[in-house]
Amino acid sequence: MENNIKVLPLIPLRGITIFPYMVMHFDVGREKSILALEESMLNGQKVFLAAQKEAKVEEPEEDDIFQMGTICNIKQILKLPGDTVRVLVEGENRASIKDFIQKEPYFKVEIEELRDIECVDNNKCEALLRSVRKAFDEYIKLSGTIPAETIASLDDIESPGRFADVVSSYLILKQEKKQELLEAYDATERLEKLLIVLNNEIDVLKVERKIGIKVKNKIDKVQKEYYLREQLKAIQEELGEEDEDKKEINRYKNKINKAKLPKPAKEKALYELDRLKNSGSYSAEGGIIRTYLDLVLDLPWNAETEENLDIKRAREILEKEHYGLEDVKDRIIEFLAVKKMSSSLKGAILCLVGPPGVGKTSIAKSIANALNRNFTRMSLGGIRDEAEIRGHRKTYVGAIPGRIIYGLKQAKSRNPVFLLDEIDKMSNDFRGDPADALLEVLDSEQNSTFRDHYLELDFDLSDVLFITTANTLDTIPRPLMDRMEIIEVSGYTTEEKFHIAKEHLIPKKLKEYNLEEGKIDISDSAIYLIIESYTRESGVRSLERKIASIIRKAIAEMVEKDKEKISITVNNVKKYLGSVIYTYDKANTVDQVGVVMGMAWTGYGGDTLPIEVTVMCGTGKLELTGQLGDVMKESAKAGYSYVRANADKYGIDVEFYKNKDIHIHVPEGAVPKDGPSAGVTMITAMVSALSCKKVKHNVAMTGEITLTGRVLPIGGLKEKTLAAYRAGIDTIIIPKDNEKDLLKIPKTIRNKINFILAKNIDEVLDNALNK
Ligand code: ADP
Repeated sequence: MENNIKVLPLIPLRGITIFPYMVMHFDVGREKSILALEESMLNGQKVFLAAQKEAKVEEPEEDDIFQMGTICNIKQILKLPGDTVRVLVEGENRASIKDFIQKEPYFKVEIEELRDIECVDNNKCEALLRSVRKAFDEYIKLSGTIPAETIASLDDIESPGRFADVVSSYLILKQEKKQELLEAYDATERLEKLLIVLNNEIDVLKVERKIGIKVKNKIDKVQKEYYLREQLKAIQEELGEEDEDKKEINRYKNKINKAKLPKPAKEKALYELDRLKNSGSYSAEGGIIRTYLDLVLDLPWNAETEENLDIKRAREILEKEHYGLEDVKDRIIEFLAVKKMSSSLKGAILCLVGPPGVGKTSIAKSIANALNRNFTRMSLGGIRDEAEIRGHRKTYVGAIPGRIIYGLKQAKSRNPVFLLDEIDKMSNDFRGDPADALLEVLDSEQNSTFRDHYLELDFDLSDVLFITTANTLDTIPRPLMDRMEIIEVSGYTTEEKFHIAKEHLIPKKLKEYNLEEGKIDISDSAIYLIIESYTRESGVRSLERKIASIIRKAIAEMVEKDKEKISITVNNVKKYLGSVIYTYDKANTVDQVGVVMGMAWTGYGGDTLPIEVTVMCGTGKLELTGQLGDVMKESAKAGYSYVRANADKYGIDVEFYKNKDIHIHVPEGAVPKDGPSAGVTMITAMVSALSCKKVKHNVAMTGEITLTGRVLPIGGLKEKTLAAYRAGIDTIIIPKDNEKDLLKIPKTIRNKINFILAKNIDEVLDNALNK
């Protein structure tokens, strides 16, 4: 069939789509549209209606209007108050815009009228028709918005295309879906699309209905409960009984009045109580208010323990509860003495830094004990969110107070010792920096009015004694570190560990397991064996675990085999703890060429680090094998260059780099080691191997090296010395700049070792190599 070309005024529609055969009215307000309307009234009362792609566009351009629209007959025009006109139209036919003939003062378009392509396959068409009819029936039932007569009127329609258009005009759909249906001018395609749309809508309506039923049921239940409760109240009133709600409110009121709350806290509590009264205790809101009130009532607003600043007693307690740690104890006593003298020291904060298990937490507990303060702790490890410290705002679902307030609730007094563990392990992300919140907590200027977001009340933290702990100072935020007084608690020697085990850990465990004195006896040598062969750590935590384990196993044996007493000696430790886990390098007993004892410092304490060098004929290669980290490889290369540059001085063939291969090997130990302090050891081993001078077997060394041969200072001298001593070394060469650290080494060991202080590598070689 020939399609007609026509020219008609166009009115862009906002948010509506008109199908052929559809009768509807809409309001026209835009001047351009009114002019188009007037024009069409003058010329045949026909107008072309096409939808805008975006309803909100006020002045649409060509591209903002869909191509496909409907030619309509204007049936009626009604002037409304203002400049608006209401138009009643009837859709006639689909048409598609070919060209915009004029844009001002109104749109005029050339359109091609499209006749429906009627169905070719009649069976398919019939099947589609029936399915659409059935689906539409269901849609009508579910939506309940279309009058039942509509269905009857559909029966008269014979043309499938028309049928689809009429059904489409009844559906409540999104505009793009309507447009899609309008654009299908092939009747079969239109029916197919309509069927899909209908089925989709039916699914949505079903879900909607389900939700509706559920919500209704819930409301019914709540209403029923409410109704019953009201009845109950009435009955109770009749009987002269107080209802539960009132009882609860009175209970809270009494508590609030008795609790000696500061004025703002009391006011806030009463305000919340009022809200509780109004919201009813069974509501969700009621639950939130009750939790809040309980917290306010539980906080130690005024409760405090009487501080004991008797320094002598404090010293006794620290001595009694901890072995060794002399300088730590001195520093703490000093701190307490100053505190006693000047009340201005209110906000001073101690930070105990050291490896795990050296007693940081237990020292803090002792301080609490000595001062007669309660003790509470929180771990800062892994905290990333400021709210964990300062609380969530109450508007936040599931809000809880921050850990500071929570800790105080547990402390039960407003002046506890508050331990903030692992201050070096905090991190931050987009939720705010916890370090900032912590700064506020620790700042004595600000913390008398610390405000938790959840609590919404100021709490005075100025009488809390904060103590923090850290494994390392490197990761503590600088502003925090500036607030704190740092006390280092370093690792223990075997000797110290022995005393800690014998005098503290074993008696503590025996008491924990309720064992009478003498039932289980651990010999001194067994203790040493456990320390040296079953643990490798700076502190005593795993030692404590091993002791607990050995005692538990001994108890089991006592019970099982009916024994009165068990003695643990070197000979039967293995029976309880299994095979030895760690072994230590022992120093050589003879002087050798190319073998030097170095020293390393690892997370587990100090260790020895033997280095071996051999020289063979070759082409000047430097081979590195064994356990060398990147830093140690650099040291080896720097050492090699130094030896090449100074070969002459040490009586080494200057051509060695052409005809000798050098192989440096670092035997694998139990613990990985890396660091710059093996520099001197590498050079000594190379010089020894190349000059064939033997290295003294009783010497160990440590030091970083520069290309000019200067020896630079190193860290962890105490731990390294302990390791060398354990290996049987009696002479240790250390950098001159580390002289000050010698004092940190226990006297017993310092007296047994000959320390040589070296400024440059020549001094090292002079003392390490045989002449
Ligand atoms: P940290 O907090 O440094 O990781 P802990 O305080 O948890 O270490 O100490 C671990 C265990 O070792 C505790 O049972 C503690 O009592 C004990 N301990 C550590 N050092 C000593 C010491 N010098 N004297 C007595 N016991 C100690």
